Amino acid sequence: MQATLSFLGSGTSMGVPTLGCGCAVCADAHRPGSPNRRTRPSILLAYNKHNVLIDTGQDFHAQAVREGIQHLDAVLYTHGHADHVLGMDDLRPLTFGHRGELPLYADDATADVIERVFEYTFRKVDRYPTSARVTMHRLPSEAGVTLHLFGARFVRVPVAHGRDTIAGYRFGAAAYLTDMSDIPEGSLPLLRDLDILILDALRREPHPSHSHLENSIELVNKIAPKRAYFTHISHDLDHEATNATLPANIRLAHDGLQLNFDIAPEQN
Ligand SMILES: [Zn+2]
Ligand SMILES: [Zn+2]
Ligand SMILES: [Zn+2]
Repeated sequence: MQATLSFLGSGTSMGVPTLGCGCAVCADAHRPGSPNRRTRPSILLAYNKHNVLIDTGQDFHAQAVREGIQHLDAVLYTHGHADHVLGMDDLRPLTFGHRGELPLYADDATADVIERVFEYTFRKVDRYPTSARVTMHRLPSEAGVTLHLFGARFVRVPVAHGRDTIAGYRFGAAAYLTDMSDIPEGSLPLLRDLDILILDALRREPHPSHSHLENSIELVNKIAPKRAYFTHISHDLDHEATNATLPANIRLAHDGLQLNFDIAPEQN
């Protein structure tokens, strides 16, 4: 079953341009249409007439306007950091037209953050009347936990994000591993035979909780997908200049980039 993956955002938590920064990449990012303009990280999967979103950062509203998102069928969360959850409230108008409540899927740690930040939405009594009509579904955090959505399987791929372990997801022939400093050995068998691998590659220098360019290239070589895309990118990496130095099967993602792949290969 064919799916289209859209990068709603490819930037790090601070976004690019980064506020207060006058570097060349940030300067270029002010130019409309610049691939260096990077909003907070999120992807949309469209398949089988359904839309599944991964994460809702602070830029979700602008991303949904840009991509013309008219409806959503499910939202999966990777972890509870601001750049992945703070746009949850912007789901509201999309949930009002949804049949039943819009399902959110998250592990306990992430669900706890979302339910605390948006307490008025999840309150059992006196729920704020126009809050988002969403239901939180808590997912176990073990490797390989599988969620079936609209004919595709979403498999939890645990990744190290500094000292935390958070959710990466594999769906058919693609995997999305944002906010990742390392991939535990136990997750590697879940990443065999990939068409598309999406990895965090923050910058050139090592960082305690994000993979850097060289480390991410090594991981691509180890996992050996057909093609790889890097995301969660800071202003350290100029789009064109960095792509020119990367192997042909690895590219930096950019906001608005769309990729087609097979989301249910076992059904073919
Ligand atoms: Zn992040
Ligand atoms: Zn900058
Ligand atoms: Zn994070």
